[in-house]
Amino acid sequence: MKVGLVHDPVYLEHDTGSHPENKQRLVAATTLLETSGLMGRLISLPPRMVTAEELLTIHAQEHIEQVESYSQRGGGWLDGDTVASPGSYKAALYAAGGLLRGVDAVLNGEVNSAFALVRPPGHHATHNRAMGFCLFNNIAIAARYAQQQHGIERILIVDPDVHHGNGTQGSFYDDPTVLYFSTHQYPFYPGTGAVDETGSGAGLGTTVNVPLPAGCGDSEYRQVYEEILAPVARRFQPQLILVSAGYDPHWADQIAMMQVSVSGFADIITIIKELANELCDGRVLVTLEGGYNLEAVAYGIKATLDVLMGNSKIEDPLGGPRYSRQAPPVDTVLDRVRKAHQLG
Ligand SMILES: [Zn+2]
Repeated sequence: MKVGLVHDPVYLEHDTGSHPENKQRLVAATTLLETSGLMGRLISLPPRMVTAEELLTIHAQEHIEQVESYSQRGGGWLDGDTVASPGSYKAALYAAGGLLRGVDAVLNGEVNSAFALVRPPGHHATHNRAMGFCLFNNIAIAARYAQQQHGIERILIVDPDVHHGNGTQGSFYDDPTVLYFSTHQYPFYPGTGAVDETGSGAGLGTTVNVPLPAGCGDSEYRQVYEEILAPVARRFQPQLILVSAGYDPHWADQIAMMQVSVSGFADIITIIKELANELCDGRVLVTLEGGYNLEAVAYGIKATLDVLMGNSKIEDPLGGPRYSRQAPPVDTVLDRVRKAHQLG
């Protein structure tokens, strides 16, 4: 399998200091990919900058100017938890552009699938504001680009990040051509992502939220992806799958309360990859969103790439939860999701 990796030192220029979303996350991941030898087997995809026109497919001009001016003035806090540095605007342009490079590579057949190892992340960024560590909504911009530049009609966005991707959902809430599927801890930041948020107008039914109670682990996640994502994807028939890979459902993550392991991440991406093989010639572009425990992020990214490569051995040195708790029951919420989306 030819698997592309979008990576570049420019992503370290978004300098957030000791913020949980800091450049050490990428340093840890690339170091592990290099020492394990996996880096040498990936096809390197150098990113480009997103253009103003491409940004405007998702964001307001005033929002773009605000991010630019914060960086030009030396940085600052864009909201209570989102910070910009002098290099952030440039890094953010390359982050969104990195996904576009990944879309090109996957859809031109240069690679079978790809991982865009970028930051700042994007799924909380809305039409007119930065929030939740996100400046521009990379994956939403990539979905529009795939439609407009490659003539793709239907795109499935899968968001396993532990937080609900409110910005991505909002970008396509009334759009039947992009199906947004999210699993997330609930209630939790940013507060959105209830079962009854299912889209509006022509987009009714193409937003699928699976809000999960804190404490879910590998088997609950596997159940959701097999029993909810799979039938939703088969019904929608996507021509491309984009993945907002957040590694913050990991049990060791310091800002969330799920119990997923690195092996659990491998199971989730395996299910997504098999759906892509069945529905859209294996065309998957994964991008990094959250995940704040450096080891969990690094091994989670490596496991994702191993699955995409077809490597059967998954390295999970962190293992299962150190202090395992009984997972809460999820049958009730899954029944509500099935009912809301008429799944058999
Ligand atoms: Zn997150």
